[in-house]
Amino acid sequence: MSDHTLLEDALVRLDDAAAHLNIDADVIEKLKYARETTKVRLMIRMDDGSRKSFLAWRCRYDDTRGPTKGGIRFHPEANIDEVETLAFWMTFKCAVMNLPYGGGKGAVEVDPRQLSKAELERLSRAYIQAFARIIGPDRDIPAPDVYTNSMIMGWMADEYAQIVGQAEPAVITGKPIALGGSLGRGDATARGGYYLVRHLAKDLGLDQTLRVAVQGFGNAGQHIARLLAADGHKIVAVSDTEGAVYSAAGLHVDLLTEAKAQGRSVVSTVGQGGHEALAGDALIGVECDLLVPSALENMIHGKNADTVTAKLVLELANGPVTPTADQILAAKGTVVLPDILANAGGVTVSYFEWVQNRQGFYWSEQEIHDRLQAIMEREGRAIWNVAGEKGVTMRTAAYVHALGRLAEAIEAHGTQS
Ligand code: GLU
Repeated sequence: MSDHTLLEDALVRLDDAAAHLNIDADVIEKLKYARETTKVRLMIRMDDGSRKSFLAWRCRYDDTRGPTKGGIRFHPEANIDEVETLAFWMTFKCAVMNLPYGGGKGAVEVDPRQLSKAELERLSRAYIQAFARIIGPDRDIPAPDVYTNSMIMGWMADEYAQIVGQAEPAVITGKPIALGGSLGRGDATARGGYYLVRHLAKDLGLDQTLRVAVQGFGNAGQHIARLLAADGHKIVAVSDTEGAVYSAAGLHVDLLTEAKAQGRSVVSTVGQGGHEALAGDALIGVECDLLVPSALENMIHGKNADTVTAKLVLELANGPVTPTADQILAAKGTVVLPDILANAGGVTVSYFEWVQNRQGFYWSEQEIHDRLQAIMEREGRAIWNVAGEKGVTMRTAAYVHALGRLAEAIEAHGTQS
């Protein structure tokens, strides 16, 4: 674990990138702090008649390149440092992909697994009541994140429509298809990472059947396992909050996704289809070619980075590798495809959803896939070239790529405001 705040660690990457660009100090000053973070206490009625309160935040980190964009996380350990850091990452992620957005993020300090469905709906509606004046289709556009999903986005879109007195689907993305959601948003985060790995496989010397370990088995983890297994790669290890499972011959992804759909841990599949139990914290060091952290921040740190055997790390989670671990991995020759590129498929299809909502004309799933693939390959290749030209890691290259765009936009806004 790191001794620094999450934002301090994130800003290390900004400094690394700035050293490779000739940009004004004003630009760094602007990007070092969140522009505004609002904190509220949400009060909701519980099913037993009592009232309970939950802390909630919405951060608009930087809106230079457009309305702020980013998910809402429901998590018992959510806090302001995490929300602002996630919003900082969204700022860079949107710039990496050249989406016309700034970066934002929201969170509620809650364990949603302890709430009934009705309580969860009341909490989701309370969030929108509290932040209706901050969000908006041209101002700040939320989406799903850890422990939130399309059902919750549907309730939130409905609440917003009631408050403003008309349907306003472009205020939030990741909605159910029936409410203006986009085809292809469900697996977009994993699919973007999958296209990226496929595109760079030859350059990375990984043009063969891969042994894959997936840490975290939520939306991103499940879809990446499915997509890679369908191409013949072997998913050798998978973990969730309860533990991990292993099979040298390859896990049966269907067994794993079925367990999750029934509310069980992946660990419940031990004994079926050759699945063996593995200590949860052993997953990072499991023998594999591709490691896919798909859960939370700081999972690969100074104490376990050395155990990584994978040649490639695909960051589907936000912030899974600490700066110290980055250095250890770079020294070992492990390539890390950084979060702000690797998991940007989610926000990219969110952007497609917003565009479709605004034009009122909807694309086919194939069109979504093709557009996503084209953007992942375009930006992934550009960053690969920056890394080669400057002799830096893919992470530094991604930050250089994004920072150039951010600096240009900051300067274009004028310097006397
Ligand atoms: N929560 C996702 C992320 O961290 C998606 C955000 C969005 O679609 O706006 O990138």
